[in-house]
Amino acid sequence: MPRIPRTTDHGPLTTSFPPRYTARVSRPLILVSNDDGYHSEGIRVLAESLQGLGEVWVVAPDRENSAVSHALTLSRPLRLTRFAERGFAVDGTPTDCVTIGVGHLLKGRTPDLVVSGINFGANMGDDVHYSGTVSAAFEAVILGVPAVAISQVTTSEFSFAFAGRFARLIAARVLDRGLPAGVLLNVNVPPNHPSGVRFTRLGKRTYGEGVVEDTDPRGRRCYWIGGGDPVWEDIPGTDFAAVAAGYTSVTPLHLDMTDREQLRQLEGEAAAWDLEGS
Ligand code: MN
Repeated sequence: MPRIPRTTDHGPLTTSFPPRYTARVSRPLILVSNDDGYHSEGIRVLAESLQGLGEVWVVAPDRENSAVSHALTLSRPLRLTRFAERGFAVDGTPTDCVTIGVGHLLKGRTPDLVVSGINFGANMGDDVHYSGTVSAAFEAVILGVPAVAISQVTTSEFSFAFAGRFARLIAARVLDRGLPAGVLLNVNVPPNHPSGVRFTRLGKRTYGEGVVEDTDPRGRRCYWIGGGDPVWEDIPGTDFAAVAAGYTSVTPLHLDMTDREQLRQLEGEAAAWDLEGS
């Protein structure tokens, strides 16, 4: 098991992480998916990294599905292509893959863990709402399966190697300790060898020039979303701040987005609302 230095915001501690984790079932069933497609290097590294932990199945889109969020295909049938004994490509979304993997391909056996990734590129802050990688993990959470999403922050030079080792570590931890219902772990690994790990909350991202307006060859206006480089607010304790400082970021995310404080405030105010009035 790889050993990662444990850190706080004040710097590295001398204690090593983790104590050796042991899965609670003898040969765990692990489902791997992603949004970059079954052919991507990141999912190959992930599946190989998890091999020693249990029985690993890969069910992933047959082409890139980045930024499709939690889309579920209901308007047409889905086709599967078997590319390995325990590997299937689906002409659908990451959510379709987890749905088919858990609901059909594993033939009634519930996975002990779903791991989504390793995504080519960060999935931090507001971007988790667009991310197919994170949504595949959330689909598992909806189905009652503990899940991890893992993304590799990329630069011109990077390697999936450390993310693969960290995926194995965090998968072993989840197989041993589990996760509360509704919770997944969202991991982002910096491009260079990480200085350690930080446990974080979601940061805040803004795109400077979000929409580029142009003219198509037929003279009509067209618009391209996603122009300009992303700009992050440097907020201490966030996923972005951790990765910017060279650390691997682990953010626990909850499926239930209910804001309890606003819920109480609305309940209090509504006592005075005139629901029958004109
Ligand atoms: Mn992707």
